[in-house]
Amino acid sequence: YRAKEQGRLSMIFDRQMHQEILEAITLEVDLRNALEQNQLLLHYQPIVDVKTGDIAGFEALVRWDHPSRGLVPPVKFIPLAEETGLIVPLGRYVIDEACRQLRAWQLEMPEAAHLTVSVNVSCRQFVKDGLVEHVAGVLAETGLAPSCLKLEITESVLMHDARVTARELQRLKDLGVKIAIDDFGTGYSSLSYLRQLPIDQLKIDRSFISGHECNDESQEIVKSIISLARSLGLTVVAEGVECPDQLDRLRLADCDKAQGFMFSRPLDKDAAHRLIRGNG
Ligand code: C2E
Ligand code: MG
Ligand code: MG
Ligand code: MG
Repeated sequence: YRAKEQGRLSMIFDRQMHQEILEAITLEVDLRNALEQNQLLLHYQPIVDVKTGDIAGFEALVRWDHPSRGLVPPVKFIPLAEETGLIVPLGRYVIDEACRQLRAWQLEMPEAAHLTVSVNVSCRQFVKDGLVEHVAGVLAETGLAPSCLKLEITESVLMHDARVTARELQRLKDLGVKIAIDDFGTGYSSLSYLRQLPIDQLKIDRSFISGHECNDESQEIVKSIISLARSLGLTVVAEGVECPDQLDRLRLADCDKAQGFMFSRPLDKDAAHRLIRGNG
């Protein structure tokens, strides 16, 4: 009886695994098509100045408008894109589109002149494939001021290959592009190492602001990240701000900027346009 049961279980398991593998393959084929068929688009989430309440810029967040699955969030396809190398063309698309869009807004609306756009960059894009050349090309083509573009990298990128990272960051810095460390506090970057890198901003990970790890201890962590940033001459953004309480605490801790559902969810380009116009 037991053996039979086990046999059946493993059959079910095999079938499920088979299904999952099939899914993954289909998704990969679909993702290749998505790039060619313009199914990728960007949403824009406002980043707000804590002191003034003004919008300082947007984070560009990729979405996949899949013909049968609907709007697919990045957690569902960025890891796959990274595994398959598709992240390189995908990432280029995101940089191009974000720069083109912000420049178009700036040309159209004086309110957009000072705004920045932040773009997430994966490890794979960072260490290979001429990221710096690509960025330089896009800035030249679109006419966007380099200081309006901010690239967000995670601590895992810093850990990957310290020498390559430091060199590439310096080359980006020389272009005039800004660098932010995303999801800060979740990785293992050492302070002395951070100090040597030409970065501009720390983005405190959402788990310390509104995640389930959010408690008195995280408030202390937030405070120490902010004072660390101060001593390194960096600005700080808090991600995942969902309620006025959290914003109050950030204000007390002297945080520069905040981003989160309390202000706005990521918006499609038309809604972001209306928001900049002041009638959003
Ligand atoms: P991230 O860079 O840390 O982006 C912030 C994520 O937090 C976004 O999720 C955003 O919608 C979400 N978020 C913002 N405010 C709140 C809040 O108040 N509460 C909660 N619960 N969530 C909030 P999204 O758009 O699903 O993106 C997830 C991750 O996917 C990003 O995390 C980033 O790591 C990655 N990603 C997104 N777009 C790109 C891209 O173009 N390239 C690469 N390489 N990665 C991307
Ligand atoms: Mg980010
Ligand atoms: Mg983040
Ligand atoms: Mg995050």
